[in-house]
Amino acid sequence: MDEQQIAYFSMEIGLEAAMPTYAGGLGVLAGDTIRAAADLQVPMVAMTLLHRHGYFYQHLDDAGRQTEAPVQWDVDDFLSEMTPRVTVTLEGRSVNVRAWRYTVRGIGGHEVPVYFLDTDLAENDAWDRTLTDSLYGNDARYRFCQEAVLGIGGVRMLQALGHNQIARYHLNEGHSALLTLELLDQEAKRAGRPCVSRDDIHAIRHKCVFTTHTPVPAGHDQFPMELVKQVLGAREDYLDLKDVYCADLARLVLRQGAPFGESKNLYESGDLFNPTYLALNLSHYVNGVAKKHGEVARMMFGGYHIEAITNGVHAATWVAPPLQELYDRHISGWRQDNFSLRSALSIPADELWQAHQRAKKALMQYVNHETNAGLEVDALTLGFARRATEYKRADLLFADLERLRAMGHPLQVIYAGKAHPQDAKGKELIQQIFKAAAALRPLINVVYLQNYDLELAKLLTAGVDVWLNTPQPPLEASGTSGMKASLNGVPSLSVLDGWWIEGHIEGVTGWAIGENHRAFEKKNDEQLDRRDDANALYDKLERVIVPQFYGQRERFQNVMQHCIALNGSFFNAQRMMMQYVLNAYFL
Ligand SMILES: *Cc1c(COP(=O)(O)O)cnc(C)c1O
Repeated sequence: MDEQQIAYFSMEIGLEAAMPTYAGGLGVLAGDTIRAAADLQVPMVAMTLLHRHGYFYQHLDDAGRQTEAPVQWDVDDFLSEMTPRVTVTLEGRSVNVRAWRYTVRGIGGHEVPVYFLDTDLAENDAWDRTLTDSLYGNDARYRFCQEAVLGIGGVRMLQALGHNQIARYHLNEGHSALLTLELLDQEAKRAGRPCVSRDDIHAIRHKCVFTTHTPVPAGHDQFPMELVKQVLGAREDYLDLKDVYCADLARLVLRQGAPFGESKNLYESGDLFNPTYLALNLSHYVNGVAKKHGEVARMMFGGYHIEAITNGVHAATWVAPPLQELYDRHISGWRQDNFSLRSALSIPADELWQAHQRAKKALMQYVNHETNAGLEVDALTLGFARRATEYKRADLLFADLERLRAMGHPLQVIYAGKAHPQDAKGKELIQQIFKAAAALRPLINVVYLQNYDLELAKLLTAGVDVWLNTPQPPLEASGTSGMKASLNGVPSLSVLDGWWIEGHIEGVTGWAIGENHRAFEKKNDEQLDRRDDANALYDKLERVIVPQFYGQRERFQNVMQHCIALNGSFFNAQRMMMQYVLNAYFL
């Protein structure tokens, strides 16, 4: 293969609902990114892990208690096995790795191969065979070994598969950061040096692009240095982190702070290895995933130059069938050119409304079939689906049940979302919603759908009337489900955080909950913030959304049109991919 390619590395990639190789937003974004690259004929190849047991099947009992089961899926049904094998040395053992291929075909036929790494081979140790089973599971040792398989094994597998002309390595989040060490090692070897030099570091930085995705500190892995040495240190063909000759350079790439500037040394600050810093130090281009997140990331990681490329979603994937038909009739070529969705303003409002009703009916039928909840197509329906974790505040809507009951018009709410198996507070949140649902019945119909996945996300983001989002700012890096809703003409009612700061025009593309001031003037009182945001949420519902939905339908429809024209035409993966190409890949 002579063509220069972009190698896209991600711990999770979501391509199909029946292939549970993703946990949430990060993996779904990765899938959308790859689809956009295929559409735009960007020469890309993607690398991830197989996740043979998937990111669990979620079951919720009558009280909303979550239990998890491994997902049964047949790898052969989706992927084809590749012949080459590579090895990665972990804790002194040689672990064999194979790859499975999935092909994403773009709108003009351009193909992007996605490789899923797999260590479940008979010649491996029993424990090593499990390394590509579970996404974000188990302990630090397991996860660090997974990162080594992805980063080091991934680079070697690309080479074994003949992808020898990699112009850029795109690290989608820090889980693949160890690939930089493998590249450094190879660079030094090629130059015949026993040890990595500054020249090697410059060469590798030139090749790497790093996208950071979370302003939540716990979202950035940290591993004890002892563990890192235990897993990697024994490799004799490796940049040995203990090697006296290499020690200075090892510090250079691992420490906190820009690589050639003033910085704190990680060895002196708790002896933790933080892949995020490795990625920051060894990438020539670093970005956050929304403008606000770029600012937050610059505050979190002082001394680094951090840009922002706001996320986008893959339009043709996320637009529901009734809306696809509508756009096909009115906006020719919208799949090839998402920008042309700007002309959605000229789609007659009643046709848009009819298409939305069809999408809504499809959702209602699904929900009623699954839950026997008796949802009605005519009632104003709010949707909220995201990872069940504390900062997303899924229960904000239920801060004052009396006020909700007094809304005066029918209201229905549909929830979905998994809590990470180890996130006790997230699991508790789901139970809170079940409690509120019981207290509100039968006046307000609240349902919580189990096992949120790509297909359910498609039904939900197209079929509700208003998409609700209530994170605690500034913790939502971007958020993408509101973009999916926009593409279907579904307005957001959201706290001003992440992408919504860019996408929100009050009363035009949707509605804000509260003001946009919290990143820099934090009240530092979550309870006060919560009370204020809940009040703002009720105010908006009572004074604007409910009256418009039931009494001024044209105004509501006008907002729907602007969602598509202003936000669908911009917050799509095509625009995002173009920005990566122009700013990060072929710079
Ligand atoms: C889009 C999507 C997400 C991410 O949504 P956010 O708004 O970023 O929370 C998570 N899970 C699934 C299945 C999705 O489709």
